[in-house]
Amino acid sequence: MTSPTATETNSTTRWQAFATRVLAGEELSADEAIEVLAAPDVEVLDLLHAAYRVRHHYFGQRVQLYFLMNAKSGLCPEDCSYCSQSKDSTAEIPRYNLLNRTDLLAGAKAAAERKAKTYCMVISARGPSEREIAAVEQIVPEIKEQYNLDICACLGLLTPEQAARLRACGVDRVNHNLNTGGDFYDEICTTHTYQDRLDTLHAVRDAGMELCSGGIIGMGESPSDIVDMALDLRELKVESIPVNFLNAIEGTALVGRNELTPNDCLKTLAMFRLVNPDREIRIAGGRELHLRSLQPLGLYAANSIFVGDYLTTKGQLPEADYAMIRDLGFEVVESTEAAATSPSQPATRSKAPPAK
Ligand code: SF4
Repeated sequence: MTSPTATETNSTTRWQAFATRVLAGEELSADEAIEVLAAPDVEVLDLLHAAYRVRHHYFGQRVQLYFLMNAKSGLCPEDCSYCSQSKDSTAEIPRYNLLNRTDLLAGAKAAAERKAKTYCMVISARGPSEREIAAVEQIVPEIKEQYNLDICACLGLLTPEQAARLRACGVDRVNHNLNTGGDFYDEICTTHTYQDRLDTLHAVRDAGMELCSGGIIGMGESPSDIVDMALDLRELKVESIPVNFLNAIEGTALVGRNELTPNDCLKTLAMFRLVNPDREIRIAGGRELHLRSLQPLGLYAANSIFVGDYLTTKGQLPEADYAMIRDLGFEVVESTEAAATSPSQPATRSKAPPAK
């Protein structure tokens, strides 16, 4: 048997040193975060182990499930190049206006049945119309009366007044992704700006709601663009960070772009964990496509996934997600348990994995 080389020992020590510093309350610098993204593939397991120490400290073995409802599909006047619902997209997707009360309630039922903690209602829009805000005001109290679900609304750009109305009707959290770093934003969208998105996040925070904001990896951005976004999310103290991996479907401006490897995705998740140690990190769209057989490893850095389909693309069957979580020895967070656990508190020992 040969001894580890000095290089091997140093790299392992380096990622562990990052985790040790982060657990002591230090922040990773931008250069260090870029270093994580540039880790050699042979060091991915060492890196994941470091990320897992941090994940386990704050979240134990717990996995939070989210359920997405595309409450209004297509018909969006914006030109986000990654999006199948943009005005410029010719992707073959369903196009419909805001779902009615019955359908939105059925979505909540499906979320509860799939053991999701949060029901995410998403509309394709620059921002919500008065009719759409009023519909959300009507449906949210009804859902909360019937189901033990948190509500996340993703309605596009919001004014402070609209954010206050969402808060008043019981919305717990608003999703509004930064999507990429500020310097790259103009490359993926010209109809609104990075600052517009920041303004919405500030309006949501000022209204007293939690923030869900993340991005899409693999659109041609540089490692420093990804890190810029991660640092901005840290500064905003975003509670929940969905990390999407671009699924450039036919008919979208970015079609054909497919440059990520499973190891790239794992390094990205590890970086988000080390930069935002006590925040919820969700492996979001593109999980199955890009992580493929390495999906389970992603949960050593992340602590959350969507269960079911994405907005306009299919996810794997919920049973496959439950099996993955169970096989890892992890457990799904139930809503009541989630409510009792602050994300900033270290995790207590979790229960045995549930049999499903
Ligand atoms: S604003 Fe949202 S729905 Fe509209 S094109 Fe951009 S990402 Fe898609």
